[in-house]
Amino acid sequence: MKHTYDKIHGIELPVPFPLKTTNVYLVDEEPITLIDTGVKTDTSFQVLTDSLRRLGYGIEDIKRILITHGHLDHYGQAKRISALSGAEVYIHAEAHQRIQSMARFTRHVASVLLQNGAPKDSVEETLGYMEWAQQWGEPLDDVHFMNEGDEIRFHNMVLRPIHCPGHSPGLICFYLEARGILITGDHLLKEISPNPIINPLPNGAGPRYTSLKKYMDSIRKIADLEVSLVLPGHGEPIRDFKAALQKILHHHDQRLALVLSILSRGEMTAYDVSRLLFPDAKSFQVFLGVSEALGHLSILLEAEKISFRSRDGIDYYSINSA
Ligand SMILES: [Zn+2]
Ligand SMILES: [Zn+2]
Repeated sequence: MKHTYDKIHGIELPVPFPLKTTNVYLVDEEPITLIDTGVKTDTSFQVLTDSLRRLGYGIEDIKRILITHGHLDHYGQAKRISALSGAEVYIHAEAHQRIQSMARFTRHVASVLLQNGAPKDSVEETLGYMEWAQQWGEPLDDVHFMNEGDEIRFHNMVLRPIHCPGHSPGLICFYLEARGILITGDHLLKEISPNPIINPLPNGAGPRYTSLKKYMDSIRKIADLEVSLVLPGHGEPIRDFKAALQKILHHHDQRLALVLSILSRGEMTAYDVSRLLFPDAKSFQVFLGVSEALGHLSILLEAEKISFRSRDGIDYYSINSA
C-alpha cells in the first residue's frame, strides 16, 4: 500500500505477527502529523525513516502523533518518535489507560480464558506470548487526551475524532469531512472483520462481555457519514464504504446463526465454541477466538436464545428450549 490522498500519505510498516503490516499515515500539512506509529522494532523504524525521507521529511519533522487505539501495532513506536522529534502525542483516555495497565489486562486475559474453559497450558502459552510481545511497544507517559467533539486542526484542514469503541476501548476514527476520508485504525478493515477484544470492566461489575455489542454500535454510528475513501490500519484502502459496512453486519448475522447451530450439539464453553470456529488458533489467537465467541454468546444470551451456568468456576452455555 503506497498511496497518497490529498495531503495524506499511507506508509506500510512491518509487524511481527500474522497481519504482517500496519498502515500509518503522514499528514503533510502543518503541524506535520503521523497517525499511528507501528511497532517498536528496528525494522519498523528503518522503514518509517526511509518512507519519510522519500516524502522529503525526517523523523524530527513530526510535530504531532495521533493514536487510533491502544494496540502495540498502532502505538508501539510513539514514545521513540516523540523522544526524537518532540512530537506531542494525542490519544483517547481509555486507550491510554489500556496501555498503562498492561499487567491488569494480562490478569484479565488469564481469568477470562480460565472461566471460559481454556486448558491451563493454553492460558500459559497466551500469557507468555503477551509478555514477550511487550518488547514491541513502550508505555506513553506524556500525552494529551482527545475525544469526540474535539477538532484536530491543521493549517488548511480539520480532522474530527469519532469515538468507536468495540475492537478496543478508546478507539478513535479520524474523519476528514471536507474530503470524505475516514481513517479507521482497526475499526473497519477491507478483508477481515475486526475482532471485538474482551476488555476488563471498570469494577468487574456490570454486563459481562460487551465488546462485540459496542463494536456493532460503533459500526452503526459511522454508517451515516459521507465517506468516499476509508484508510484502514491494515491492508488496502476501501472505496465502497457502504458495502464494507454491509459486509460486517452480514458476517455478524451469519456468525450468530453459526454459534447457535454449534450450541445445538449440546452444552459447551466459549473455549469449545472458539475451537470449532477457529480450529487452527494458537497462542494469543486463542484469546482472540474466545473473545469473538463470547461476543456472540453474549448477544445470544441477551436475546434469551441461550443460557449459561457456572460449574466449578467455568461457564457453560446451552440453547434454550423453545
Ligand atoms: Zn487493534
Ligand atoms: Zn491493528
